[in-house]
Amino acid sequence: MNDSRVQASTQKLLELLEELAAFTAPGLGVTRLLYTEEWGRAQTFLQGKMAGFGLKVTTDKVGNVFGRLMGRSPEQKVILTGSHIDTVVNGGKYDGAYGIAAAMIALQDLQKNFGQPQRTLEVVSFCEEEGSRFPLAYWGSGHVTERYDGSEAENCMDADRISLQAAMAAFSFSQSVTDTDGNISKSTGARNDIDAFVELHIEQGIILETTDTQIGVVQGIVGQRRYMVKVSGVANHAGTTPMLMRQDALASAVEMLYVLEGAAKAAGAPLVATSGKLEVYPNTPNVIPGEVLFALDIRHSEEEELECFCAKILSLYHEIAAERGVTLEVIPVLHTLPAPMDTKLSTALEEICLEQGKTYRMMVSGAGHDAQLFAPRCPTAMIFVPSRAGISHSPEEYSSPEQLAAGLEVLTAMLYELAY
Ligand SMILES: [Zn+2]
Repeated sequence: MNDSRVQASTQKLLELLEELAAFTAPGLGVTRLLYTEEWGRAQTFLQGKMAGFGLKVTTDKVGNVFGRLMGRSPEQKVILTGSHIDTVVNGGKYDGAYGIAAAMIALQDLQKNFGQPQRTLEVVSFCEEEGSRFPLAYWGSGHVTERYDGSEAENCMDADRISLQAAMAAFSFSQSVTDTDGNISKSTGARNDIDAFVELHIEQGIILETTDTQIGVVQGIVGQRRYMVKVSGVANHAGTTPMLMRQDALASAVEMLYVLEGAAKAAGAPLVATSGKLEVYPNTPNVIPGEVLFALDIRHSEEEELECFCAKILSLYHEIAAERGVTLEVIPVLHTLPAPMDTKLSTALEEICLEQGKTYRMMVSGAGHDAQLFAPRCPTAMIFVPSRAGISHSPEEYSSPEQLAAGLEVLTAMLYELAY
């Protein structure tokens, strides 16, 4: 594309990102949790925008939003691109939103410059990916790829004890789907008509910036395990209970977390292990904690290594619990396999970078993404652009207009190659 076209597209992209960032709960940065009012307004806004771009808009039973640019060969499967609309609490305006906004601009540019594609192109705004409100993640792409069938919603609660099912019902999401022409159809959410998925995303790490590279071509995404660990002891008087007669849930949990950090450091990269959430009950200064809930997040690019590490940690936890006379309950929350991206598509991305004179590198993603759910089902590719100082999931998240524009150009060329 010539310079003025690139500039115009970049301007539209930046405007769209600003508009999306306005759909947030009060507070720093962007907070747009699944099935909240601001989330609903953002998805409604996108439907209007997509329709304005000349795309045929549909939603599904969990609130994913799709905008379709019909191809000349409708019998051929769809090329899907996009990302997730939800954010973490006090997140940034690029994570997820960039992949949706850029996909919309790309489809608009392609249509304007080259007319109707051979194959149908579709942009998606997935309803949820982060796992920030409910203890489950990839709720949007998980429906499209049949990871979930909806039965999970009943017993899944947010911090206010609102069930996922109730949160969905508040938005009237159901099996019935209405498109923009008013046609009502039934949908399970699963899609078997997708031939390729391409996701553009900020890196959320520091590799591209420190190596002064414009584009990351993702080779694979790490596998990830999340657990909630519940330690139950006995809540008792902090003054009258002797030290040797306690079943202190918090002291036990602290030992478990200390063991986790040591084992993770000993295992070395690319293994990472984190506990970012802890709840103490009754959480009172003069009462021995009777119950503690904490989260575990463990990642590695090799499934076998990941499995082995998790098994070792959980076995150590059972030993600690037995020694301390507390009971242990481990609830698996998330289990994703490492997801290699399609080598043909990755090679095509490399060639596009070379053609466009952009610097690029092949890399592994330490963060989970919607793309990993598609990778086992269809050829899938991921493109990264740099994040300033590697910061993400923060109001400080930033990528420059030039960096965002470079990603948009690569995505547009990739979609052209796949659909025209
Ligand atoms: Zn994301």
